[in-house]
Amino acid sequence: MASTIDGVAVVTGAGSGIGRAVALAYAAEGARGVVVVDLNYEAAMETARRSKPIATNPAYQALAIAVDVTDISSVDSMVQNVVETFGRIDYNVNSAGIGVQQHRAVDEVDSLEMNRFWQVNVMGTLNCIQAITKVMKTQSIATVGLRGRTREVGRGVILNVGSCNSYIATPQIVPYTTTKHALLGLTKTAALDNAPHKIRVNAICPGWVNTPMVDAAVEGNPNLPTMMKTIIPMERIAEVEEIADVIVFMTSPRASYVTGAGWIVDGGTTLQ
Ligand code: NAD
Repeated sequence: MASTIDGVAVVTGAGSGIGRAVALAYAAEGARGVVVVDLNYEAAMETARRSKPIATNPAYQALAIAVDVTDISSVDSMVQNVVETFGRIDYNVNSAGIGVQQHRAVDEVDSLEMNRFWQVNVMGTLNCIQAITKVMKTQSIATVGLRGRTREVGRGVILNVGSCNSYIATPQIVPYTTTKHALLGLTKTAALDNAPHKIRVNAICPGWVNTPMVDAAVEGNPNLPTMMKTIIPMERIAEVEEIADVIVFMTSPRASYVTGAGWIVDGGTTLQ
């Protein structure tokens, strides 16, 4: 199948895990540019370095930028840098996020912890949506030819990384579940507000994925791998590429009429 990805992607949290796999997938699928955004500059540089040999667009460029997504001025200067380098932004995947390392019952959660999760998982995403849609709104409406027909694909696409905890609750992980539910609400509202501007906004909601975030959770709960096998109908956790491929599809012109959706990719975990 010919690639329909050819624009510029800004991927947050791309120094690790799902974000890194998404950045590499865009490079492999034909993106002209991938902007690797992360708190950890060394990790962002490493993703950018790995993307170059696998890129399929002859004009491909990778740009690594250290950004704290909770800091609006840091996000704004990143976006300015991207516009100066590439002139446009076609895809924005918001994968920067934090997970739970310590389980705590609802009556033990404090406002400090809640606020930390809120700032990264919700405000960090909102900061990127606001700064990036401002650029997208100035871009012309793109079309592509697909199977002999012209298809309107709009001015840009945003994809937020939620979780199956955007839909269900897991005992004793209040800040994560609360912020991932909020992220889905943010996604739906941003989709509504941006639909007239021809900008699509969606979320992917993975179950467990093999990343450093899950390694950290396993450290805090050694019974987790056995528990995962019993509660995941497919009896395994996802590899990052299985999430990245769905993200690339959802942001591609092939998904041109999908907006405000949360796509659960969890090996069947939330079915029972
Ligand atoms: P990860 O820890 O491997 O990667 C997260 C990246 O985000 C790190 O590189 C980190 O430096 C970066 N980051 C954190 N805070 C940041 C900030 N303030 N500014 C910029 N960058 C920041 O985690 P992952 O497993 O790849 O998770 C990515 C996303 O997927 C998260 O939103 C997470 O909640 C979600 N998710 C993960 C799983 C899973 O099982 N791994 C399941 C469902 C959803």
